[in-house]
Amino acid sequence: MSDPGLRDLPAVHELLAHPAAAAWADRVAAPVRTRLAQELLAEWRQRLRSGEPSPAADAGGLHEYLGRALASRLEALWRGGLRRVINATGVVLHTNLGRAPLPAAALESAAGLSGYWSLEFDLVSGERGDRSELVADLLRALTGAEEALVVNNNAAAVLLLLSALAAGREVVVSRGELVEIGGSFRVPEVMAASGAVLREVGTTNRTYAQDYERALTAATAALLKVHRSNFALMGFTHEATLEELVALARPRGLRVLFDLGSGALAPEFVPGLPEEPTVSEALGAGVDAVTFSGDKLLGGPQCGIIAGRADVVRACARHPLYRALRVDKVTLAMLAATLRACLHPDRARAEIPALWMLARPAEELARRAEALAGRLRAALGPAADVATQPGASLAGGGSAPARELATTLVRVRPAGLGAAEAARRLRRAEPPVVARVAGEALLVDPRTLDPAEEEPLVRAFAAALGGDAATRAPG
Ligand SMILES: *Cc1c(COP(=O)(O)O)cnc(C)c1O
Repeated sequence: MSDPGLRDLPAVHELLAHPAAAAWADRVAAPVRTRLAQELLAEWRQRLRSGEPSPAADAGGLHEYLGRALASRLEALWRGGLRRVINATGVVLHTNLGRAPLPAAALESAAGLSGYWSLEFDLVSGERGDRSELVADLLRALTGAEEALVVNNNAAAVLLLLSALAAGREVVVSRGELVEIGGSFRVPEVMAASGAVLREVGTTNRTYAQDYERALTAATAALLKVHRSNFALMGFTHEATLEELVALARPRGLRVLFDLGSGALAPEFVPGLPEEPTVSEALGAGVDAVTFSGDKLLGGPQCGIIAGRADVVRACARHPLYRALRVDKVTLAMLAATLRACLHPDRARAEIPALWMLARPAEELARRAEALAGRLRAALGPAADVATQPGASLAGGGSAPARELATTLVRVRPAGLGAAEAARRLRRAEPPVVARVAGEALLVDPRTLDPAEEEPLVRAFAAALGGDAATRAPG
């Protein structure tokens, strides 16, 4: 038997006729299957030309190997890119894992959306309405805002607010708040994109109300405060309060805008995060408009909310960018369901997963960690050393950066395997498990685990640390 060469590659029609690939014919049309087959063959031509070692044992096995490879690509295409993942990291709002896990009520309301809906239609008058009105009543009742508008995310909310209120004019911001969030949101760049002119004041660590005052000119449109939602400033620091900024702005007819980001509606929703500013408090301080994300401490779908004075919010709704940034009915339905749960904080903390996870008591987490450690010990035997240890969870995702939430971690030290390799195998389990790696151990934080996920998590660990090939997806 010789190594496979270029001449051994099957033709496209031969590859498509392989039984494993042909089994997809009723779900995937011929042009799509052909495109995938051509792509696969092109990669193999390249591979064989460059003399790369081939995983197909020999020339005769190549057709069989490629037929199965094509079938597994069709399967991956069919399943799509989004996969359910078990988040064992203890980071509640994990940006790479979709931030806030959606509340069941939100998912139900999205699933119930078949047919037509009164998205922009006032059923009483028969006239055209605005889609944001569907949730505006809830937002008004929950935050004290006069009006509210919903857009695609908080970055869009800030962009729209600055474009509508301050294009071509100056906006005063503390140097301590020219932040970058998540790699692509940078305050100076968003401001430039909006057409507003940034007027920096103060220093990185200390900015006073007088610094803002000295920067005011005839060109000033607004004072902007930005929540340092993903880092903490400690030591020799000072910042102007929202009340001080309002006192400066009011008599001069200027606006105070607050990019709050994290978006807890009021303190009672996040009792474990006492330093976190909230929407109600900011509006209570007299701020003209607050912007925040729907999928951080509100715990709902991805969106951005502008809440505040009626004239400010209406100016945003009239701006042409709103048309480009607005949300669809699925997002609005999910947001409405999330806000409905917020009408009572007890229900919110029970029904909104992010809030429930943040509020889990340390004693409960300790019990869950002990129980989980026992199950892992039983399942892994000599393949790992399992113990519990005190630790900290994080709110994550641009909220409460300095606050560590007490938890109990399960430490799993694999016997015959590096921790990084074990973590890699866990990520390829079905369902994938994402755990923390610390030195030679994996750490599992029960805070972000639904009790129903413990069983599949234990199975994934057993398969990954036992080296069971079945858990690894075909390459
Ligand atoms: C998270 C955050 C943003 C970006 O919000 P997205 O919803 O990710 O677009 C902007 N500003 C602040 C202060 C934030 O915390």
